[in-house]
Amino acid sequence: MSLYLDLKAGIRGSLRTGEPLSKHTTWRIGGPADYFVEPAGLEDVQFVVRFAAERGLPLAVMGNGSNLLVSDAGLRGILLKMGRGMEHIAIDGDVLLVQGGTKISRIINTAADANLGGLEFMAGIPASVGGAVVMNAGVNGASLGDRVVEVTLVDREGKVHRRSGAELGFQYRWSNLQADGAIVAAVVFRCTPRNRPEIVREVERILRRRRETQPLEHPSAGCVFKNPPGDSAGRLIEAAGGKGLRVGNAEVSRKHANFILNLGGATAQDVWALIKQVRQLVKDKFGTELGLEVNLMGDL
Ligand SMILES: Cc1cc2nc3c(=O)[nH]c(=O)nc-3n(C[C@H](O)[C@H](O)[C@H](O)COP(=O)(O)OP(=O)(O)OC[C@H]3O[C@@H](n4cnc5c(N)ncnc54)[C@H](O)[C@@H]3O)c2cc1C
Repeated sequence: MSLYLDLKAGIRGSLRTGEPLSKHTTWRIGGPADYFVEPAGLEDVQFVVRFAAERGLPLAVMGNGSNLLVSDAGLRGILLKMGRGMEHIAIDGDVLLVQGGTKISRIINTAADANLGGLEFMAGIPASVGGAVVMNAGVNGASLGDRVVEVTLVDREGKVHRRSGAELGFQYRWSNLQADGAIVAAVVFRCTPRNRPEIVREVERILRRRRETQPLEHPSAGCVFKNPPGDSAGRLIEAAGGKGLRVGNAEVSRKHANFILNLGGATAQDVWALIKQVRQLVKDKFGTELGLEVNLMGDL
């Protein structure tokens, strides 16, 4: 009880215990987090990091949960959700200053209202800014990292650092933030002047294309596997006969073979077993080891 009260007393944001993470992942899968914190500012993030370190508690971070497979047993320790309370956007010339919990869709719209483009290619990616920068999210060769001027980070001692985009080592679905565990509190993006109607038309075109090619009618985490160099994971899975494979209520999409769908009540165990099956299938057929794009949390 005193742990709860001490943690609660140190933050402006919200604290819940036993929060089901299925409510916070786009797969709608995941057991409870012991302590679930939604920070309401940089100071909250710093407090929680220091609190976890002092008490020897595990600390995990999530954004919008759109790239996460969370264990059915949930997570021990503290889970910091960068969302509500970390969603501020400011505009200065052609630059956006954005807090880490802001949704990508919101920054595209806010930039468009100011006749600023350059982020349209991210339309339809249901990410937070922090998660998208950490993952260097993107489409068809365009990645968010190309637009990052600077990030504000909180390290695992609670200290605040600024780093330039060039220092983050962006590559395909990779930034060195994935290795160092720092928390993205804010990001500065460089935009390009563009008329709002043109931006809106392009965003609509991209969203239409996504609806045509992606199975958006069921919960998923987008692409499960990274594309191997020069090839597409979806093509390999389809060619290996993986479409429609099913474990429990998890199914490899028949529309896009790199998506695994929760048909209703699928567990993390179902998805994990299916991931292993698909990997083996592609390995047996083509000798290619597919790397995971989705992040795993908790014991699977
Ligand atoms: C329908 C659908 C379509 C998708 N399409 C695409 C696509 O076209 N391209 C693409 O790249 N991805 C796509 N994705 C995957 C996903 O949206 C991206 O990987 C996104 O970057 C994840 O952001 P998030 O905020 O949801 O992060 P989460 O899933 O919550 O977390 C992902 C990782 O980032 C870490 N993290 C999150 N926030 C922070 C933070 N503030 N500081 C430090 N670490 C943090 C987490 O610990 C975790 O390791 C799609 C997903 C779905 C469901």
